[in-house]
Amino acid sequence: MIPSNPRDTHPLRPTTRILTEGFDPSLSVGSARPAVFRSSTYVFSSPEAAEHAFDVAAGRASVRQGETVDLIYSRFNHPNAEILESQIVNLETEATAALAFNSGMAAIMTSLLGFLRPGQSLIYTIPIYGGTQHFIQNFLAKWGIAGIPVHAGRGDLLDASIRSTENLGAVLIETPANPTLVMTDIRRACSAVAARTRSAAGERPLVMVDNTLLGPAFQHPLALGADLTLYSGTKYLSGFSDMLAGIVLGREPHLIERIRPLRGLFGNILQPDECWMLSGRLPTVRLRMNRASKNAQRIAERLEHHPGVKRVLYPSLLEDAAQRRIYEQQCDFPGAMFSLELEGGKAAAFDFLRRLHIARNAVSLGGVESLACHPKTTTHSGFTEQEFAEAGITDGLVRVSVGIEHWRDLLDDFEQALRER
Ligand SMILES: *Cc1c(COP(=O)(O)O)cnc(C)c1O
Repeated sequence: MIPSNPRDTHPLRPTTRILTEGFDPSLSVGSARPAVFRSSTYVFSSPEAAEHAFDVAAGRASVRQGETVDLIYSRFNHPNAEILESQIVNLETEATAALAFNSGMAAIMTSLLGFLRPGQSLIYTIPIYGGTQHFIQNFLAKWGIAGIPVHAGRGDLLDASIRSTENLGAVLIETPANPTLVMTDIRRACSAVAARTRSAAGERPLVMVDNTLLGPAFQHPLALGADLTLYSGTKYLSGFSDMLAGIVLGREPHLIERIRPLRGLFGNILQPDECWMLSGRLPTVRLRMNRASKNAQRIAERLEHHPGVKRVLYPSLLEDAAQRRIYEQQCDFPGAMFSLELEGGKAAAFDFLRRLHIARNAVSLGGVESLACHPKTTTHSGFTEQEFAEAGITDGLVRVSVGIEHWRDLLDDFEQALRER
């Protein structure tokens, strides 16, 4: 018998679902692609519907299956955020719910504040994004939440601190680490959390993964047991270095619902125009990431043997056996970021950046255009000498975010920039 609905036997794949699900043209006067709804407030269908919408928003009533609740006010929710969120869950393996924020930092901060309480601890891998580190060390600490850093790649230390930390509220993993591309084993961290005895209320710490560098195309934390994935949508998701955005995705909707009221209070929801822009970029995330990753791999593997290059830090070139194993089990492809450690220290790194014609000297990553920067004096300049040494961020290290230009042109450009003058 031929099944009436092909999905009964073959669930659609993410690249199809991103174009077919999460947007209903009949709610946008039939337009084939989403419209922009630039309104700060919404007209209620009746006073009773308004009362019910407020009851739902305040948690006094729950939404019945299939019911649509009137929109209230755009700081809480608006159609373009709803469209974006219901589309993006299709890209993240095992995600059921999402929230859009006006930056990656807004997504990270609001998620941490949604779950952590004074007196609790937060374990986090280092090196971690500079803003995240600053928030944990200089802000959360003042609110009575202790940050416990653990070096990326030290699964033994991560296990031990997950086992022994009292009042552990959450574990925040950023993998691979930036700019060293050191890997943390997500599944192993989730097992360590699951092995802890639960609190009297039956709660366990949450595992959150900043998946900005390899997701959603090449790394799937929710399928490995993580509770939430966090994104700077500014990077690969939007992909053109022309907007800021942040996304949180969860396997269980109730976790996302714990964060939503804080977003409404803080007012850090992504605005309608930006939601619409990001929605339009989602169908090409995998195309862009695939091309950029193939480019980066070809270039990294060739530069590895260049006499001006001491070391290339890149997932497919990992030498440490444990690191290789994590990469092979956890990542589908190596991604589009690599770091070059140049012979000749800071002067060589600066000369290299000055001589590049195609890649531009800028921070950020994940755009269709290639960017390069010197982490020690820019993105990571707040580190102490000890932190530099522990993270492996040297004077000669240059970080490259490879774009979708032709890889041979990029390789030629890197090679001419490496040439002795
Ligand atoms: C850029 C970035 C962030 C912060 O995102 P914004 O959109 O700049 O707020 C967080 N984590 C990682 C890994 C990033 O690369």
